[in-house]
Amino acid sequence: MSESYEQLLALQEADTAVRQMNHRRDHLPEREELISVETDLSKVEVLTNAIESEKAPHARDQKRIDDEIAALEEKSAKDNKALYSGAITDSKELQNLQKEIDSLAQRNEDLENELLEVMMVLEESDGQLHEVGVKQTELEGRRTELLAAIELAESELDIDIKNEKAGIENIRATLNEEIIARYDKVAAKSGGLAIVTLIDGNTCSGCRYPLPSVEIDGLRRAVDLHPCSHCKRLFVPGA
Ligand SMILES: [Zn+2]
Repeated sequence: MSESYEQLLALQEADTAVRQMNHRRDHLPEREELISVETDLSKVEVLTNAIESEKAPHARDQKRIDDEIAALEEKSAKDNKALYSGAITDSKELQNLQKEIDSLAQRNEDLENELLEVMMVLEESDGQLHEVGVKQTELEGRRTELLAAIELAESELDIDIKNEKAGIENIRATLNEEIIARYDKVAAKSGGLAIVTLIDGNTCSGCRYPLPSVEIDGLRRAVDLHPCSHCKRLFVPGA
């Protein structure tokens, strides 16, 4: 095979390598995982908001009950102080005061029970929030790892692509314009693959069509680039 055809094969190999590296760069498995992690993070956010909204009215209940209990305690302390101060001597009045203290104590007990129920509900919500929070931290950690891995893979591939492209420039410089133009034209129409070889003695490596034996004969005798009759990609004589 002539030297320029060897260079043409080398050019195709290098161009294919660049195409494959670009494809790898665009389809990094880490990027696909990142998309799924981001989706999970949005779901976690939605779930957190739902739990928070469910929790909010119970938290308001807790505040209301706490406030009422505090007010009751204040009133009760005041009544007790009055009861034992000796300032009130009228027995009817003392009796009424005692009744009020008892009724305040009853109300207080009811509120404490109500508070317990509310706190149980809140505890459950907090448990759920904690669980979701753990999941969120895990996902955020994975996202950070993936972003770093993507950045590393991209920069490594960028260096390899740059080197390969420099090699391509060197190869192209050795080829004559006519061959380069033919190569570029076919490559542009054929997904970047311009140069093909025979597989199993009769099949085009580009389109995978078995060629008729008369074409194979012509191909074997060719001294110039020979297009595949099916896909028009080019066979290199002697390759
Ligand atoms: Zn073909």
